[in-house]
Amino acid sequence: MKIHEFQGKQLFREAGIAVPEGIVAKTPEEAAAAFKQLGGPIAVVKAQVHAGGRGKGTIKGTEQRGVELVKTAEDAARVAKALLGGDLVTIQTGAEGQTVKQVLVEAGCDIARELYLGIVVDRGCGKPVLMVSTEGGMDIEKVAHETPHLIHAAEFDPDFGLQSYQARKLAWKLGLSGTSVRAAEKLMRAVCKVFVENDCSLAEVNPLVVTGSGDLMALDAKITFDDNAMFRHAKLAELRDTAEEDPNELRAGAAGLSYVQLEGNIGCLVNGAGLAMSTMDIVKLHGGQPSNFLDVGGGANKDQVTEAFRILLGDPDVKAVLVNIFGGIMQCTTIANAILAAYKEVGFNVPLVVRLEGTEVEEGRKILAESGVDIINAEGLTDAAKKVVAAATAA
Ligand code: ADP
Ligand code: MG
Repeated sequence: MKIHEFQGKQLFREAGIAVPEGIVAKTPEEAAAAFKQLGGPIAVVKAQVHAGGRGKGTIKGTEQRGVELVKTAEDAARVAKALLGGDLVTIQTGAEGQTVKQVLVEAGCDIARELYLGIVVDRGCGKPVLMVSTEGGMDIEKVAHETPHLIHAAEFDPDFGLQSYQARKLAWKLGLSGTSVRAAEKLMRAVCKVFVENDCSLAEVNPLVVTGSGDLMALDAKITFDDNAMFRHAKLAELRDTAEEDPNELRAGAAGLSYVQLEGNIGCLVNGAGLAMSTMDIVKLHGGQPSNFLDVGGGANKDQVTEAFRILLGDPDVKAVLVNIFGGIMQCTTIANAILAAYKEVGFNVPLVVRLEGTEVEEGRKILAESGVDIINAEGLTDAAKKVVAAATAA
């Protein structure tokens, strides 16, 4: 689960990590009032969307950047007006962009240096790893790609947290000196603590700035929580902003289905994550592009499968659907009946290829054959993939 920058900064603030003072605004008037309340002389108006790269991103159809420095209340209102309601396109959003519904008006910071700090889980060593770099600012992906030796890392034990000596070593690599070393040590250890205590999968501060007076401050905050741990963080669940999430993924989640939206045109309805992965592989092997990953689960019922069909058939990009079921706990008859129920309810506007195998397969096939519904029957994975790719291509 992702959260907004202003929410991440609130978590930081509570953990004693220095962040600029800021106020959320939903209208240009609120932005102007926020500027006055902060007291100037400089503020920054920042689009709040669940994506990074806002500083370099622009509102679709305009030149307006997602982060802009302002010097008057009128300016703050003007920038807020240009951002609010617009679709911000950044390297992380895709071409459609993400609609800006609120902005953060934040006190302008006197930046001497922009550093980078990020924490992720390193599955190799099974621990969180803190990474820092002198190359902070807006292009850390490029730094990682072209000059990886400029990124310094330290893995730490989640029970003991980042140790002082580790923080000091990294501070030295960042070229910090004097009081900044102490400030860095305190900040690094605090961000690591936030990461562990909240079961984060990502905590990123880019830029982490050294101010003119040598203090350290988190100017950006990007936090993602591990969904598997949300059950033990009722308070964090309140931070969820479903308007930022993919509508199909939300619907699927509510029905207990595992669904990931992709960009192709072949809808896949599969039971079991492994089979879903191999279905996507074989579709690609035969020249097709899956429009989604969908695992209806081992024991999905008719309602869940019908909802899965509704989601797939409601997607205008889907040109053909492949149902690939290996009946284990799932009975092929359940799928067959769900296909017919979905047909009755929504109709099939695109070709449907069905490959059934396993428990009650004969009965399932019989139900489909006798229904008179137009279905392309497939035998085996290769046959199914070839048929669905051909159907999508012909559409
Ligand atoms: P993003 O990572 O989405 O581009 P950031 O929050 O990192 O957004 O902001 C982009 C840039 O804007 C920063 O690298 C920094 O130079 C500048 N900036 C952000 N917040 C402030 C602030 N409060 N004061 C001064 N400059 C800021
Ligand atoms: Mg940033």
